[in-house]
Amino acid sequence: MSFVKVTKLGNIPLVSMSDVHSKETRSYNMSRIKGKDTKPEMLVRKFLHSRGYRYRLHVKRLSGKPDIVLPKYKTIINIHGCFWHGHQGCRYYVIPKTRTEWWLHKINRNKELDEQNLSKLSQEGWKVLTIFECELKPKIREETFNRILKFINCGDTSS
Ligand SMILES: [Zn+2]
Repeated sequence: MSFVKVTKLGNIPLVSMSDVHSKETRSYNMSRIKGKDTKPEMLVRKFLHSRGYRYRLHVKRLSGKPDIVLPKYKTIINIHGCFWHGHQGCRYYVIPKTRTEWWLHKINRNKELDEQNLSKLSQEGWKVLTIFECELKPKIREETFNRILKFINCGDTSS
């Protein structure tokens, strides 16, 4: 996928969606709109399950209704869409050229909420790992899975 007509706003690349958003990227973004049980989250769930980890999903009483909760390890794993959660420097975080301010406001608001949830959960003693969807692309999935295991067992956030 090559981006043409790129302009810059800060360090966020801006492109016209109709010009360059490939079908792949569009469906990738759209998959997040549907919310629960989207594919990237399923990948992580299947992996954890295959390794014998037990978890609960979308726990309502916890801040931000975290995606995957492992009570035994006091660990939470959130799977974030790169677009909606503004994954900085990621090729899937491309703000549309039209209604740019509106999109930026919306995504920045999401990021604020993410931060607030994170700090509340930490205060309650949870370890929280955020995985972005691009980290589950086939090429780097294995690496990400290893990072998840390391985090669950040692609380290590380095990759
Ligand atoms: Zn990303």
